[in-house]
Amino acid sequence: MPHLQTAPTLRDKLETLAADAQYDLSCACGTTPDDHRRRGLDDRWLYPVTLQSGGRGLMFKTLLSNACTNDCRYCPLRAGRDAVRRCALSPEETVRAFMPYWTSGRVLGIFLTSGVPSTPDAAMDRLIATAEILRRRERFRGVLHLKIIPGASDAAIERAVQLASTVSLNIETAGERHFAKLSARKDYLKSVIAPLKRIAALTAPGMPRARVKATTQFVVGASDETDREIVRYMGGLYDRLRLHRIYFSAYQRGLGDPSLPGETSPATNADLLRREHRLYQTDFLLRKYGFSSAEIGFDPAGNLPLDIDPKEAWARAHPERFPVRLRTATRDDLLRVPGLGPLAVKRLLAARRAGARLRPDALPLRRDLASKARPWLAAE
Ligand code: SF4
Repeated sequence: MPHLQTAPTLRDKLETLAADAQYDLSCACGTTPDDHRRRGLDDRWLYPVTLQSGGRGLMFKTLLSNACTNDCRYCPLRAGRDAVRRCALSPEETVRAFMPYWTSGRVLGIFLTSGVPSTPDAAMDRLIATAEILRRRERFRGVLHLKIIPGASDAAIERAVQLASTVSLNIETAGERHFAKLSARKDYLKSVIAPLKRIAALTAPGMPRARVKATTQFVVGASDETDREIVRYMGGLYDRLRLHRIYFSAYQRGLGDPSLPGETSPATNADLLRREHRLYQTDFLLRKYGFSSAEIGFDPAGNLPLDIDPKEAWARAHPERFPVRLRTATRDDLLRVPGLGPLAVKRLLAARRAGARLRPDALPLRRDLASKARPWLAAE
């Protein structure tokens, strides 16, 4: 009997494309180190997210195509890899797969990304066509995260920004020199930096699309960039381009080209995941704690120490700023104390306003936070 090959079903394609979408992890996912790696067990296209309010939810996330003509050397989907089973979802198929999750209230929205089977704008056309069906025909008003393909034209970026609630374009690494080690086909300045600037201009305060969130992502450790270089770029991305969030994805050995710097570095995959976590902590210091990128400390090799969180490393390097006096300290001073985050500081200030005489040995906080903060505090 000849073996009959049947066309893949919609579910087959979703299985493949959602599995491959895990390599693009900048999905507005959670704040804990592994949130963005956990997916629904049955429906693997459902990714957990942590909301700004602290609640949690699920996003439907898929690639529209895993075919790609690009040569990103860290990416298992890069051109020329026969091991990848290539397939694509049409805009109609994507909408058909997604809408039942939306109408049943299981998801907060949809994250759409794609490989680049031909040109960047052809990939953008499919992403935008899907978004248009969702927004116009299905009257979908939930979260719509669209990936901007490197090298997309200004016109495609503008159409995407009109439809999306979040757009993201991965910067991948800190500067042209490192980027050249990751891809020979993509041009850092033209394919990545210029579109990021266009997105920033369209979503700037006062513009009609100012509410659209713009994000980016670094792949950490595929090239040989240092954390110091990444953090310097982060400062620019937040200060000059006013990005909403920066995400990090630790390169994992074996996924990319064997000649990548990340394949021969002494760092293990576990080290790279810890490095990713330290970068997320640093990102919080820049966004929520009033730190500037120039204040972050590095080891002699220019990397964040892996054995201590970056806020405590800063505190140890600045004994002149401690102890912080509980009865008179400003919010900014309290935010510099290891163990105290914005919520804890809010609680301490509220207690102080209500007349409480705060003492380091009796902080009205969770025990682990209180014991971390205590050595850095004085009553007055
Ligand atoms: S553009 Fe690069 S990262 Fe994206 S799918 Fe293609 S090879 Fe992978």
